[in-house]
Amino acid sequence: MSDERAERIAGFIEPLRVKPGSKVRLERDFDPRYKAGLKKRDGIELLRTGVSLLAEYQERLAAQDTYGVLLCLQALDSAGKDGTIRHVMSGVNPQGVRVSSFKVPSAEELDHDYLWRYVRRLPTRGEIAIFNRSHYEEVLVVRVHPENLLRQKLPGNASGRDLWDRRYREINRWERYLTDNGFKVVKIFLNLSEEEQRIRFLKRIDLPEKNWKFSAADVRERRRWDDYQHAFSEMLSATSTKWAPWYVVPADRKWFGRICAAAILAHTLIDIDPQYPDVGEEARKDLLVTKRDLEREAPAGASADPYAERHPSAARATGRKHRPKKKRG
Ligand code: AMP
Ligand code: MG
Repeated sequence: MSDERAERIAGFIEPLRVKPGSKVRLERDFDPRYKAGLKKRDGIELLRTGVSLLAEYQERLAAQDTYGVLLCLQALDSAGKDGTIRHVMSGVNPQGVRVSSFKVPSAEELDHDYLWRYVRRLPTRGEIAIFNRSHYEEVLVVRVHPENLLRQKLPGNASGRDLWDRRYREINRWERYLTDNGFKVVKIFLNLSEEEQRIRFLKRIDLPEKNWKFSAADVRERRRWDDYQHAFSEMLSATSTKWAPWYVVPADRKWFGRICAAAILAHTLIDIDPQYPDVGEEARKDLLVTKRDLEREAPAGASADPYAERHPSAARATGRKHRPKKKRG
């Protein structure tokens, strides 16, 4: 990665980052229609670049097997979480990615502490895990609808007035712990306007093939718009940290939101800068011995090492030029 490209990406996402310690008021501080002066046509090209960059870095992340990445996606209904995941991860190896969607918690999940179900879906080293909704639901939907809290069967001392501050603190510490142990936490909030949500809901009703995506519950949640904006603002203010900052991604234009998400993930991976492991001097010597054996097995008329012949510069590390084809007879 050239420093220039890395810097461009860093500059691009800078306005989206929530400064740790700042007091956010969503509607005042972030515009869902912001698009950094880009046109959709340039955007498609940019997304393509971002996606191929992600593919390259994911391969290195997996090979190095030291760091993992957790990407948390939060948003209101129809903001585009699913589409973002589909596009941003379109170029990467499915073996290195694990997507988890979090719904209303099950009885088994409610029988544990509130972070339990998220812990079980964390990435392994070398992996990118995506949370489609995340542990932040515990300070969002649970806060807007306190009846969810009753179902969590908390003891008296864990459900007092300072509950939300305590949860913010616990979440921050948990993410700090993960970061210190090699797991980068990246958090994206897709910021949709009320009017754009109305339009998308209508589209889901108007198009029969979209009907399945719509539920009456979605409109009920929409009625609580202001409560959600407040809960999001509080969450962003309290849990954007140096080690795991929030990014508020404008979501009214789907194409722009996707570019931002790709850029944020790319930035995280560039920051980790995973390297292919070097097997070491000794192992390398053994490899060269094996290489000679394999070369001697070349059938008559075949090149000793067809790969090295076709890619002389890539195979230069073997320390010796490939040998010419064996003569027949
Ligand atoms: P969807 O993502 O549209 O399939 O909807 C999942 C639903 O699960 C949303 O309405 C969320 O608010 C709800 N949900 C997710 N996590 C929790 C939670 N921890 N407590 C209560 N409801 C939740
Ligand atoms: Mg839904």
